[in-house]
Amino acid sequence: MSSESRYDCIVVGAGLSGLIAARNLHRQGRSVMVLEARDRVGGRMRGKFLASGQWIDLGGQWVGPTQTRFLALLDEYRLSRFTSPVSGQKVLLYNGARYEFDGLFQGYAEGEIPGVCPEDWQDAQDAWRRFEALSAALPEGYPRANDLNRQLDGMTFAQWIAENTQTEFGKWYFHYMSRAVGVGCVEAGQISFLHALWGHRVASQAEHPEAELIRGGAGQIPGKIAAELAPFIRVGEAVTGVRHSDQGVEVLTGSETYSARFVVIAMPPHLAGRIFYDPPLPPLRAQLTQRVPMGTCAKVLISYDRPFWRDKGLAGIGLGNCRWIELCADSSDPETGVGVIATFVYGDAYHEWMTLPEADRRTAVLGDLAMYFGDEALTPVSYDVENWTADPWTGGGYTAFMPPGVWTTFGEAHTAPVGPIHWAGTEYSDRWPGFFDGAIRTGERAAAEILTRLAAG
Ligand SMILES: Cc1cc2nc3c(=O)[nH]c(=O)nc-3n(C[C@H](O)[C@H](O)[C@H](O)COP(=O)(O)OP(=O)(O)OC[C@H]3O[C@@H](n4cnc5c(N)ncnc54)[C@H](O)[C@@H]3O)c2cc1C
Repeated sequence: MSSESRYDCIVVGAGLSGLIAARNLHRQGRSVMVLEARDRVGGRMRGKFLASGQWIDLGGQWVGPTQTRFLALLDEYRLSRFTSPVSGQKVLLYNGARYEFDGLFQGYAEGEIPGVCPEDWQDAQDAWRRFEALSAALPEGYPRANDLNRQLDGMTFAQWIAENTQTEFGKWYFHYMSRAVGVGCVEAGQISFLHALWGHRVASQAEHPEAELIRGGAGQIPGKIAAELAPFIRVGEAVTGVRHSDQGVEVLTGSETYSARFVVIAMPPHLAGRIFYDPPLPPLRAQLTQRVPMGTCAKVLISYDRPFWRDKGLAGIGLGNCRWIELCADSSDPETGVGVIATFVYGDAYHEWMTLPEADRRTAVLGDLAMYFGDEALTPVSYDVENWTADPWTGGGYTAFMPPGVWTTFGEAHTAPVGPIHWAGTEYSDRWPGFFDGAIRTGERAAAEILTRLAAG
């Protein structure tokens, strides 16, 4: 069936980037229609209220001080923030031993950690300084194809780690960083070293950590944006094809054909590559989307009637080379009094974890938490898993990454529109890619590009 209207723009995907693109076009008086495959808006932003009244974020949740576009959005909707709980001793579990320490260790230098011998710590810090210097030397913007970048792009992060660290701890430190706090959820053997450096350059959590949470959760935000667009959003409409020409686009779903002057495909590159384009996309773009996979993760939120770890002087922040849980953090809202730990099973451990029966997966996660915080961790009030990797409309998390060779061979096609087709999604941002802030920036950019073209007639 063919929709009778012809829109100025169709936006495919109602994640944060798509909603922002549609909202900005709508606010300028342009006609839009948003088509979303899932039965809800928000994509990788998803909230839930527990029976205790506590909210949890099954997707993204933290915000940092230089994520200015996201902070502006929070101000616009008058959403307040609070400091993610950090006071108390943090726990490091390393090779079966348990250490408590002060200060922050988000994979970055903040003084020595008891239990880690000075030579190990020095090794990690020396390598860290070399990593930072290489990252800082990258110019602003997207990585370009030049001789130095080709060299950096020709190796994996793991190769650089092998050549630049001597100790077992130094090696784990960087592999942990790749999985937990760099681009995130990717094994260092899979990611281009250039991409790891660039990710740190344009989204440095070392300098600007994501240290705040949003009261009520980040998951409430998509609904607020969608309220403004309500008649112009259709959920449960997976787009399967886009026919395009200089005159405009026809966007095909299982049941309808929508027509518009322009289309914004607002989703990670590998999902954009699943849509059938007629005529086909230029080879460089078509091959790019075959080469940009998602990281691997499930997010797990565990709640307790209160943050019991604080009775022991613990911050509820743990990290270490445990089998399943390498990083976990207190995500409790002080206003509710409920204790919440947020954690992830990611990288290769995720695939091993998924071979276990579901009940054993839970036992595995709680067992690791008990090593960090004590046996009280074994008896939570609630246990929620969002398996982003198994979800066909995301396919992994937190975000996508570039394997070796992709930036310097296919990078040119990364953001360039193809006729009336524009791209949005956090992966396309050159500031905070992979984060809320990056998603907003690409939604704003796509809307601005289309407004300019519409104004030109
Ligand atoms: C576990 C996890 C933790 C995270 N933590 C943080 C954090 O603490 N802070 C932070 O800033 N960021 C975090 N992020 C990242 C953040 O959530 C994302 O960067 C952001 O939400 C991405 O928005 P997007 O619009 O680019 O993509 P998405 O949210 O992925 O939206 C894409 C949309 O397109 C839809 N879609 C796909 N294919 C089709 C199709 N064929 N037809 C129609 N619709 C389609 C999808 O259903 C989806 O709704 C986290 C992400 C995850 C998964």
